[in-house]
Amino acid sequence: MYAHSSRILHLETNPYSGRALIQRHGNRELWVNQAPIPLSTEEMDYVFGLPYARVPHPMYGKAKIPAYDMIKTSVNIMRGCFGGCSFCSITEHEGRIIQNRSKESILNELEEIRDKVPGFTGTISDLGGPTANMYRLGCNDPKAEANCRRPSCVFPGICNKLNTDHKHTIDLYREARKVKGIKKVMIASGVRYDLAIESPEYVRELVTHHVGGYLKIAPEHTEKGPLDLMMKPGMGTYDRFKEMFEKYSEEAGKKQYLIPYFISAHPGTEDEDMLNLALWLKKNNFECDQVQNFYPSPMCNATSMYYSETNPLKRVKYKRREEVPVAKGERQRRLHKALLRYHDPDNWKMIREALINMGKKHLIGDKPHCLVPEEDIDSQTPAQRRKSGRHGANRFATKHTKGQPGFGALRQGGNKQGGNKQGSKHQGDGKPGANKNGARKPNQSSGSQGQKTQGNRSQGQTGRPQGNNSRPQGNNGKTQSQGGNRKPKRR
Ligand code: SF4
Repeated sequence: MYAHSSRILHLETNPYSGRALIQRHGNRELWVNQAPIPLSTEEMDYVFGLPYARVPHPMYGKAKIPAYDMIKTSVNIMRGCFGGCSFCSITEHEGRIIQNRSKESILNELEEIRDKVPGFTGTISDLGGPTANMYRLGCNDPKAEANCRRPSCVFPGICNKLNTDHKHTIDLYREARKVKGIKKVMIASGVRYDLAIESPEYVRELVTHHVGGYLKIAPEHTEKGPLDLMMKPGMGTYDRFKEMFEKYSEEAGKKQYLIPYFISAHPGTEDEDMLNLALWLKKNNFECDQVQNFYPSPMCNATSMYYSETNPLKRVKYKRREEVPVAKGERQRRLHKALLRYHDPDNWKMIREALINMGKKHLIGDKPHCLVPEEDIDSQTPAQRRKSGRHGANRFATKHTKGQPGFGALRQGGNKQGGNKQGSKHQGDGKPGANKNGARKPNQSSGSQGQKTQGNRSQGQTGRPQGNNSRPQGNNGKTQSQGGNRKPKRR
C-alpha cells in the first residue's frame, strides 16, 4: 500500500494536470493538494529581489556560523529539477518545471553581494541551484509538458522533447565574470553530467573558468541494478564526461580532478554490487573521503523502496509487485559503507569476513587485484604496501582528506604511509588526521552531508540521503562517520 501510494503521489506532481489526492483514515480524510503552478521569471525576480539583509539574524551576535561563510556569496539562479532521482525529493519540494530568474536579477545580486557582504573577497562560491546546469532548460512542447507524467525528463534517457541547449547558462557565466569587483565565480552546485555532455561548449566553459581544482560529480553507483532504481545514468555517461573534463582541463593548461560521489546501501544494492563498486574505485585509484550511506527521508521513492521492499517505479498490484533487495540492519549497512572505504584499515576486518562469506577469498591479499590485505597495515612494510597498489598510486588530498589514514603522516614529513607526489603536494590542505600508524583519530569525521535548496544548504531539508551515520562503528569505538559537506543538490 505504501509503495502504491508513493507511486501515485509521484505520478500526480504535474502542476498543470496532477490531481489532488485523498486518503481516508477512520472518519477523517487526508488531502494532498495539487502541486503549485511554477513561478514566472518576473515572480522569481520579485522574490529574489526583496531587500534581504544578507547577514545572520542579530540574535546570533558575533557567533561564528560556519554555514554562513559558505552561503553568503552563493547565488541561486533557479528552482526545481527534472532529474527525478529516487533518493531525492527536490522535485517534490520545488517542482519538476524549472523556475528561472532573469540574467539581470542574478547580476544585480552579484553586485549586491559585492557591496553588502562584509569581508567579500571577490569570489562567488556558487552560481547554481538544485542542479548547476538546468538553467532555462525545459520541455520544448508546452502541451506535452502540461500533461506529462514521467517522473524524470532525463531517465532512462534524455526525452526527445527536452531542450538541452546550455547557451543561457554559458552566457550567464560570461556576464557574471565581467561584473566589476568579481574576481572568480565558482560552480559548486552538482553538475548533471548526462545533460552537460550534450553541450561540449558548456563543459569547456565550466572546466576553463569555474572549477577550483576539483569538480565533484555524483555517479552514485557503478552497477546497473542500483542505478536503475536510483534513476541515474550508467557509467558510460560518466566516462564520456570524464573524457571531456580531462580534454578541456588540458586545453586550459590546468591540472584538475573529478571527485565522484557514491551512495552505499541504497535500496536495490546487494553486497555483490557494493563489492563491484569497491573494485571499480580500487581500479581507478580512488579513495573516497566522502561517502553517503543511504538514509530514508520523507517523500522520496527510495524511502518507500526501503520500507516496503517494493519497486514503486513500476506498477504495484495487490498480489504482484517487483521486490527490491534492501540492505537493512546495522551489520549489512556498515558493510556497504565499509566497502566504499575499502582503503580504511578500520574496515578491513569486516571486509575480509564478508569476502570469505561471498566466496571471494582471492580478493584478500597483497596482489594488485586484491581489495584488502591479509594483515593489517601496521605489519606491512612500505614496499609491500606500494606493491599492492594500496595507499599510494594516485592518491590525492582534498580539504576533506584530512581524516584519511596516511595523510597525517604525510603532513608530518615523509611518505611513511605510501603517499605520492600529489598527496605530498597537497599535504598542507588538512590538519594532522592520523596517528603514527595511519589510523584515524577517534571521533574524527570528515564532515557532514547536507544539501542545498534555494541557497540554503541544510542537512536533510529536501530528503537527499544523508549518510553521515555517526554512530560509533569501529571495533575500537572510533566514530566512523565519513561524509563531507556535500553540495546539496543533485546531480
Ligand atoms: S515530454 Fe519529455 S521533456 Fe516534456 S516534460 Fe515530459 S519528460 Fe520532460
